[in-house]
Amino acid sequence: MTEGWKATNDVDAVVVGSGPNGLVAAITLAEAGWRVLVLEAAAKYGGGARTEELTLPGFRHDVCSTAHPLAVASPAFRHLGLGREGLQLAHPEVPLGHPLEPGRSLYLYQEVAETVAQLGRDARTWEHTLGALGRRWERLSDGVLEPLAIPPRTPLTTGAFGAVGVWPTTWFARSAFREPDTRALFAGLAAHATLDLAEPLTTAVGLLLGGLAHGVGWPVAIGGSQSIADALVRRLESLGGEVRTGHPVSSMADLPAARAVLFDLTPRQVLRIAGDRLPSKYRRHLATWRYGSGVFKVDWALDGPVPWVDERLAGAGTVHLGASFDEMVIAEREVAKGRIAERPYVLVAQASAADPSRAPEGKHTLWAYCHVPHGCDVDMTEAIERQIERFAPSFKERVLARHVMGPAALEAHNANNIGGDIAGGVSDWRQMAARPRLSITPWAAPDPSIFLCSSSTPPGGGVHGMCGRNAAQVVLKRFA
Ligand SMILES: Cc1cc2nc3c(=O)[nH]c(=O)nc-3n(C[C@H](O)[C@H](O)[C@H](O)COP(=O)(O)OP(=O)(O)OC[C@H]3O[C@@H](n4cnc5c(N)ncnc54)[C@H](O)[C@@H]3O)c2cc1C
Repeated sequence: MTEGWKATNDVDAVVVGSGPNGLVAAITLAEAGWRVLVLEAAAKYGGGARTEELTLPGFRHDVCSTAHPLAVASPAFRHLGLGREGLQLAHPEVPLGHPLEPGRSLYLYQEVAETVAQLGRDARTWEHTLGALGRRWERLSDGVLEPLAIPPRTPLTTGAFGAVGVWPTTWFARSAFREPDTRALFAGLAAHATLDLAEPLTTAVGLLLGGLAHGVGWPVAIGGSQSIADALVRRLESLGGEVRTGHPVSSMADLPAARAVLFDLTPRQVLRIAGDRLPSKYRRHLATWRYGSGVFKVDWALDGPVPWVDERLAGAGTVHLGASFDEMVIAEREVAKGRIAERPYVLVAQASAADPSRAPEGKHTLWAYCHVPHGCDVDMTEAIERQIERFAPSFKERVLARHVMGPAALEAHNANNIGGDIAGGVSDWRQMAARPRLSITPWAAPDPSIFLCSSSTPPGGGVHGMCGRNAAQVVLKRFA
């Protein structure tokens, strides 16, 4: 088949990898009239947006992403209007619940007023920071997800966001908020960064996710995140593009001739595939790319909703388990130092709270993950279930089946999840400034036909497609 493409030389661009970034890159090129071929190693396209019956028949689990504030807010997805391709989103009653102790929780509602009503002396500060970002969510996402646009898309909002976001969460939460509960709510958001919370820029992650919770909510895709990939592929095919699954690429010789090759892969894989086409300085750069802490994930089929002591938690799409600010700071610091946290910060996704189609009637799907050191092979199932049972003591009685994926299994599912790192490389300030190198066009490799379009490029991890769109725009400019 590969020989056929070589012979006919009938594509303008090849995209390697069909994650959300690869598919958005392919669509952006196809919209400009390019003939695009996407080659995907796995049997199904979608990368981090795939849904499978991991446990029992009829239980549809998101293997990776579930909560989609970034997809809704993303300029790329807004432009594509995937509702026209059949994509439907569902909002849980409340985006986020954060139990502080059994029976007592804080909630991050989409409505700012409802949220701040729980925050005591911090009501005004929350209103003026995360509430204000929520009101300006379009400017926020345009600025943050297109960080290298020239001229900057939204200099005022992005500037204000950056001036606060640059600080470590340990500093920001203690100086901005007076209530320990508010600090805990914020730390749970910032801990999505998978970094020690004393690291610069962790505040930006908390502000972005919290601001978007107010601005657009944290919806899930009806039918599973696979529906996002399905909609992207439908759009690509309508533009004449093609996706071929079951096609792992291991060298440039595997590719048909094309003007441009876009890798939806991380630096280590690009080095392996295209290293001999790249100058030694750039190769060194890719070789020294740092991968971050891993994730240990458990999926459950449940015969009812999680029996939370605080029953309102059952309506939350996402639940953060870490109770206090200090507990989460310690847990994330331990992992960053290469150790297992005794009480890990656990991120729980209750997709079926918003989308009953995920499980047979009356039943539920659930996933949770905690952070672990890079490549760690310790089984964290017990530790994760212990954290859930702290706030839902009879949880295990609801379990019909479970499916477990540590870092090695996540990497086997998707070669981009190196050592269980789900963000394409550490997202600290150094690797956010130079992702993967310091340049105003970091998507372009020194070889004029080679580009990177994965989450190892700006703006980084998440289902938003902006790495792909940014990369494709650089390609189009180069060949204009
Ligand atoms: C457990 C988990 C939970 C997550 N939760 C969320 C969430 O709730 N919300 C959110 O926004 N994000 C979430 N994410 C992150 C999100 O899934 C990723 O940031 C996003 O998918 C990155 O997209 P991408 O296109 O850069 O790469 P990927 O989605 O990783 O796609 C890369 C593709 O390349 C393919 N590939 C790799 N090597 C080769 C090769 N040699 N040849 C051909 N193909 C190859 C892979 O099979 C894969 O399909 C989660 C991730 C994980 C793992």
